[in-house]
Amino acid sequence: MDARLEAIKDTVLMRNPGEAEFHQAVVEVFESLGPVHDRHPEFLEAAILERLCEPERQIIFRVPWTDDSGRVQINRGFRVEFNSALGPYKGGLRFHPSVYLGIVKFLGFEQIFKNALTGMPIGGGKGGSDFDPRGRSDAEVMRFCQSFMTELYRHIGEYTDVPTGDIGVGGREIGYLFGQYKRITNRYESGVLTGKGISWGGSLVRPEATGFGTVIFAQEMLKTRGTSFDGQRVVVSGSGNVAINAIAKAQSLGAAVVACSDSSGYVVDEAGIDVALLREVKEVQRGRLKDYAERRGGVTYVDGGSVWDVDATVVLPCATQNELDGAAAARLVRNGLVAVGEGANMPSTRDAVAVFQEAGVLFGPGKAANAGGVATSALEMQQNASRDSWSFEHTEERLTEIMVGIHDRCAATAEEYGEPGNYVLGANIGGFVKVADAMLAQGLI
Ligand code: NDP
Repeated sequence: MDARLEAIKDTVLMRNPGEAEFHQAVVEVFESLGPVHDRHPEFLEAAILERLCEPERQIIFRVPWTDDSGRVQINRGFRVEFNSALGPYKGGLRFHPSVYLGIVKFLGFEQIFKNALTGMPIGGGKGGSDFDPRGRSDAEVMRFCQSFMTELYRHIGEYTDVPTGDIGVGGREIGYLFGQYKRITNRYESGVLTGKGISWGGSLVRPEATGFGTVIFAQEMLKTRGTSFDGQRVVVSGSGNVAINAIAKAQSLGAAVVACSDSSGYVVDEAGIDVALLREVKEVQRGRLKDYAERRGGVTYVDGGSVWDVDATVVLPCATQNELDGAAAARLVRNGLVAVGEGANMPSTRDAVAVFQEAGVLFGPGKAANAGGVATSALEMQQNASRDSWSFEHTEERLTEIMVGIHDRCAATAEEYGEPGNYVLGANIGGFVKVADAMLAQGLI
């Protein structure tokens, strides 16, 4: 890392103790930024990096609710409003027991650059809770969401901060959150949340957008090597929103998607994952991947273990952070891996990224490859602002244009800075310069 940035990085790490994921995200970005500061000493003078690493506002709050047996439960809620240089804070809410400030800050930090790369007017933020919706009844999830929003509502708004879903927060949760916001404020402010249902202000393609976008980005990477998804053997991790839609899109482009996972195990389905069945089991019945395996029949279900033990030419990690380590990366590379498209945020460890890059594997980092979700959220905000709703075809076309644009911008930036094909560098520098320029223009705030 550049010596000037090393000192700033050390201070950031010291000021934010115990936040391992946030540290990892910061270090990964700083490693790309040396050459930018050679060209733009004014960024150093204006302390852009120090300011970028300090969220504009961090909100932590108590979320009390009662479970179905009448017992009081207490969770912790978070919203980190990281950077508003380009627009209102924008980023998802994650409900998962692992959520703490370090996770929310890593996600919020990544979101700043991701949102900048989309070319849309949105700043970066993220939030969530250590609440675990798995195994909870609809009534419990509703009471939790209502309590969460009873505090959050005062901090968000169409022009302030616009949350959406992430792990554990899908259409059901967004519905309960929106209902409570509307009730408290007495305003039908559609633009305050994205990921809404289609009949009450949502956008077509938003549910599919992150998974679809990841595959579109990976397809653009494959094109640079004269190939495509057609005939690739693909492994996807996760079986949630991003994973399911990535599987569907990869299959529509002619790939054989042979495995996916959840936090309990993974399934190998050599005939190709049956997306309709997977959607029914996961999205309608809220079941487990094990249930998919039982209903599908003739497939292998591995309890525990790692889905990265399954060979593939393309992998799409779509579950969670740090799920793919250096050893798994090395094994995949030895067995013929060609490309990685990150649907999840920071799913590859730093060791894994190094292995992919040294081996010349095409590597699309999450902040570029999974930006289709937030980009389509911004399209939802556009539709809400103009009280319009677009067709599936038109919205998908816009998503495709945006993803191809992000790919091309990352590739051109990597080339400009002397490292063609390095999408990590391209994404970090491309996103950073845009935000840094806006921060300079807006003065010391
Ligand atoms: P979902 O909650 O719909 O699905 C998450 C999936 O990942 C589930 O299969 C879950 O398994 C698995 N998973 C979650 N945590 C772990 C863990 N600690 N270990 C193993 N498996 C785990 O979430 P999404 O699909 O929305 O999100 C997936 C990833 O994509 C996240 O990294 C998220 O930040 C990122 N992302 C999501 C966007 C969106 O639009 N939704 C936008 C951009 C990025 P189980 O059910 O067993 O927990």
